[in-house]
Amino acid sequence: MAKPVIFTIDDDTSVLNSIERDLRAHYGPDYRILPINKGQAALDYLKKLEQRNETVALFLVDQRMPEMSGTEFLMEATKAYPQAKRVLLTAYADTQAAIESINEVGLDYYLMKPWHPPDERLYPILDELLEDWKVHVRLPYEGIRVAGTLWSLASHQAKDFLTRHQIPYQWLDIEKDPNAHSLVEGVSSDTKLPVIFFPDGKILIEPSLKELADKVGLQTRADLPFYDIVVIGSGPAGLAAAVYAGSEGYKCLVIERAAPGGQAGSSPKIENYLGFPTGISGDDLTRRAVSQAKRFGVEILSAQEVSQIEVRDVYRIIKLGDGTDISCHAALMATGASFHTLKMPGADALTGAGIYYGAAYTEAMHYKDQNVFVVGGANSAAQGALYLSRFASKVTVLIRGHEPTASKYLVDALNENKKIEILLNTDLLEVKGTNTLEQITFKNTRSGETQTLDAAAMFVFIGVRPQSQAVSGLVKCSDKGYIFTGPDLIVDKKPPFDTLRTSPQGWPLERDPLLLETSVPGIFAAGDVRYGTNHRVASAVGEGAIAFALMKEYLKTL
Ligand SMILES: Cc1cc2nc3c(=O)[nH]c(=O)nc-3n(C[C@H](O)[C@H](O)[C@H](O)COP(=O)(O)OP(=O)(O)OC[C@H]3O[C@@H](n4cnc5c(N)ncnc54)[C@H](O)[C@@H]3O)c2cc1C
Repeated sequence: MAKPVIFTIDDDTSVLNSIERDLRAHYGPDYRILPINKGQAALDYLKKLEQRNETVALFLVDQRMPEMSGTEFLMEATKAYPQAKRVLLTAYADTQAAIESINEVGLDYYLMKPWHPPDERLYPILDELLEDWKVHVRLPYEGIRVAGTLWSLASHQAKDFLTRHQIPYQWLDIEKDPNAHSLVEGVSSDTKLPVIFFPDGKILIEPSLKELADKVGLQTRADLPFYDIVVIGSGPAGLAAAVYAGSEGYKCLVIERAAPGGQAGSSPKIENYLGFPTGISGDDLTRRAVSQAKRFGVEILSAQEVSQIEVRDVYRIIKLGDGTDISCHAALMATGASFHTLKMPGADALTGAGIYYGAAYTEAMHYKDQNVFVVGGANSAAQGALYLSRFASKVTVLIRGHEPTASKYLVDALNENKKIEILLNTDLLEVKGTNTLEQITFKNTRSGETQTLDAAAMFVFIGVRPQSQAVSGLVKCSDKGYIFTGPDLIVDKKPPFDTLRTSPQGWPLERDPLLLETSVPGIFAAGDVRYGTNHRVASAVGEGAIAFALMKEYLKTL
């Protein structure tokens, strides 16, 4: 932890040097002594200390300075550091000003110049003040601080990214905390949010996830130009494949566009995954899987999106969004699925500002004692509603169908929860809000009755879309974009040479595609992105493990 600061200001250089020397001699081991000879320069420097979240223990300030009196300085300085002790250094003639200052700025003491000998006239006074300061001070948070608003999508994404990487941070809501507001104003004149303060003094303003990842020391670039196996996506399927590939000594790279864990990583409690009778949170499962994969030498890139895969002879070229290429022999599409976004007017603008897709658990606690809505009736929506009910005063679940499709244990839990109301046969019609979501309108499709209610937030869990864009046009997919593999590709017990309309080269080999191989040899698919998947963690993990075994087979044939 950085030493607390003793700030001393005097325009007379010889006095400043002398007080600095005395302060250093006695307080140097425990405090950082900062001498400055001008009030305004000192205020500017104070802003920097504030941005770095450093603590000031004591201001020792000359009263009579040309551009700004000591009292004026203290009035400004104590806005940011109200707990710091305030001492004026005065000449005999200034005592009246010092006395007035006691009321104006809550002065703790005024010291007469000269203060020699310091053992008698300086240290005992400051010792006592500093002891008192130590007892009452609340030391500042030393880690990363994210300052923003609840209605800023980029703030939400940054918080979510840090949370998903299990990197601790402090959230500063600039609408609720005036100090946070002035902290942000001090560094950013426009409305760009979030502003992220790092302990080393670095500040990022509305950073991309990649900039943030680089700053917090996550790997965003591959160490090698070539890998045996590249896995795209770090949900359960991708991580399972990576653990097996790493454990058998293959050079394996995992590329993740956001943070590891995928959809499962956002689950507050997975209760049906084998071996965890009381459930396991998605965070925990992800943390364990990531450390397991890394232990076996797997590299995991964060905040890197795969934009395309190309085929060059026996190489599969993985093209990243930042323009870099990585080459491999076998690639696994484990890119999963994501929720449909609402297509109604106003919904886009309110995304991250009250409307969240999937389990935005970083935001749940901000809706304490408020009315929130969940849209959807499957397992993920049910889990979301149960989790939100820990904070919100009421959670209303809107389900289009005539019953929830979630597993029985979740439906039972929903029905038992007094804070949760389920509205069946309900269609969401409209969302309204200026900066944040304020109201939603929905309709009962049986009775035709519409209702508009105040809504602090709405968490949407409807429909899933396979994330197969990186291979669309290259491998054969269903109409909805799910990737066909193995037996799905066999027509009349033969690889469908002519029927692979979306695969320009067709199937070039004598053998059939392997079980989880796509219509392009050497490109495999597993988990929620694959046609026929059943959208469960255990299935994704199982498919990831099988996909590795098949990639191993494939590599032997090269
Ligand atoms: C809230 C919630 C709760 C759930 N609870 C349960 C449960 O209790 N039990 C259960 O069995 N199942 C549950 N599920 C379903 C389960 O999580 C999924 O079936 C499972 O995560 C699918 O794993 P996956 O690896 O195939 O894909 P995903 O988990 O979707 O992971 C895919 C990953 O690929 C990344 N990606 C996508 N495109 C790219 C690209 N172009 N470049 C780089 N990376 C990319 C994504 O960012 C993502 O991290 C839940 C799902 C949700 C959303």
